[in-house]
Amino acid sequence: MKQLELLYEGKAKQVYATDDSERIIVRFKDTATAYNNLKKAVIANKGLLNNDISAMLYRHLEAAGICTHFIEKLNERDQLCRRVSIIPIEVIVRNIVAGTMAQRLGMEEGTRPSNTIIDLCYKRDDLGDPLINDDHAVALGLVTYGELKGIYATTRRINEALTALFDRVGITLVDFKIEYGRTSGGGIILADELSPDTCRLWDKQTGEKLDKDRFRRDLGKIIEAYGEIDRRLKRLEEEF
Ligand code: UDP
Repeated sequence: MKQLELLYEGKAKQVYATDDSERIIVRFKDTATAYNNLKKAVIANKGLLNNDISAMLYRHLEAAGICTHFIEKLNERDQLCRRVSIIPIEVIVRNIVAGTMAQRLGMEEGTRPSNTIIDLCYKRDDLGDPLINDDHAVALGLVTYGELKGIYATTRRINEALTALFDRVGITLVDFKIEYGRTSGGGIILADELSPDTCRLWDKQTGEKLDKDRFRRDLGKIIEAYGEIDRRLKRLEEEF
């Protein structure tokens, strides 16, 4: 597998072409951004941890029967993935109220609703990633109603698999963001990373935040928190 030209550079990752037109290399960078790019920093070794954590979570989802873009971890910073065209919708799953949902609806952070909430946001930095509904997503030409039905069903299965996994390592999966992509064959599969940058993860015993809120809210010990998630998942993976 030969790495070719840089196809895309985002806030936390680079994507490279390979000599196989159906495969790309995703490189995890050490940069972090928050509040629509207003806050930026380099956090040494974050990319290594996110690459490792994302690979473990994707292997778990694949084993649970979810179709994803992940093929294999290549080295400390890189993973090999199937090439997809990303659907510009952020699918946000909330098991516990936090972040923008708490702010927008005047709810207390930490409230556990009786239902699981799925938000859709239109991925457009220039518009501040606005919250949209199904009708907006279809009107924008991003997906059909039928595709949305599949996306919701898969998203709920992913939430169940990840909630159970984190539960076993003493972590509450508060919320997370996922993205889907279209393959050249037209199928829709899970893509992008799954890491403490894209999930809220609270220690079940202490309530300590082990995710990007440590960066957003200046809580310190960011790498220690990401390292803790990595260690716990690794220990569990080694048991199998
Ligand atoms: N999230 C993300 N990227 C985004 C927006 C949100 O990964 O562009 C994740 C975030 O880390 C959290 C969840 O989605 O786990 C819900 O985020 P929220 O809508 O509360 O927004 P935030 O507080 O992150 O701005």
